[in-house]
Amino acid sequence: MKKDQPLIRRRALLAGAAVLGAAGAAGTAGVLTTADGARPVRGTAAVAGPQARTSLTTSAFRLQPMTGDAPAWRTPARTLVRHAPILRMSGRGRSMVLSFDDGPHPDYTPGILRTLREYDVRAMFFVCGEMAVDNKDLLREMADDGHIVGNHTWTHPLLTRLSRSRIRSEMERTCEVIEDAYGEAPLWFRAPYGAWNRAVFQFGAELGMEPLAWTLDSLDWRTPGTHKIVHRVEDGAAPGVVVLSHDAGGNRSQSVRALRDYLPYLLDSGYHITVPRRQFT
Ligand SMILES: [Zn+2]
Repeated sequence: MKKDQPLIRRRALLAGAAVLGAAGAAGTAGVLTTADGARPVRGTAAVAGPQARTSLTTSAFRLQPMTGDAPAWRTPARTLVRHAPILRMSGRGRSMVLSFDDGPHPDYTPGILRTLREYDVRAMFFVCGEMAVDNKDLLREMADDGHIVGNHTWTHPLLTRLSRSRIRSEMERTCEVIEDAYGEAPLWFRAPYGAWNRAVFQFGAELGMEPLAWTLDSLDWRTPGTHKIVHRVEDGAAPGVVVLSHDAGGNRSQSVRALRDYLPYLLDSGYHITVPRRQFT
């Protein structure tokens, strides 16, 4: 297992982001746009719609360290509070994003990392804190390879059924373990089941994370067979598409095998498989 190599890791991160680095959008909207004009997305469109207006300037909530004794966790600069998650990348060439949720898992994540490494491709991993805390070496590996690690809560609950304090705890604890193992606090958050609400957007913004959903669900979580997953991704490939797959939460052997099939296909079809970059002022 490689140990921390900050310089190399930083270089890898920058290389991964460089593909989209020139996007000129100001502020935090960056190179991703919300789904205006995009096709409907299962699981997110329904819950993302009628969000109440949220003040951008006032908030009763200030995130506190988990315990009074702990050193204050450095919260990244807060972002604007969105009313809907980002669903796809803005149209800049034939770029696509691959994302893997619910891990890291020692049985499946290494196979995915191996394939990504083989093709020199960067992806996103939305990790759960309870998985990350037992597999910190895999988060370090993601950092070394230039992948983006996002926050997918601690226990993968349906956030819309939780109290505000539980939601905050789920998100904040996961930020802490990611910063510890990956080396940087996450800049992206994805709600389990695509279930977003105002509190989720608020806390995400306060913790410095942008909400990212997906465009294309590979439906690998149904374990429909490797070929069905492959065909679904290949059929759904299009500029700006963010693909959802999983590297934990069940037997993900099909997901691991499918990637070995569709990744070279996407590359041969002229797609840049890349990761989004947040814009900072
Ligand atoms: Zn999930």
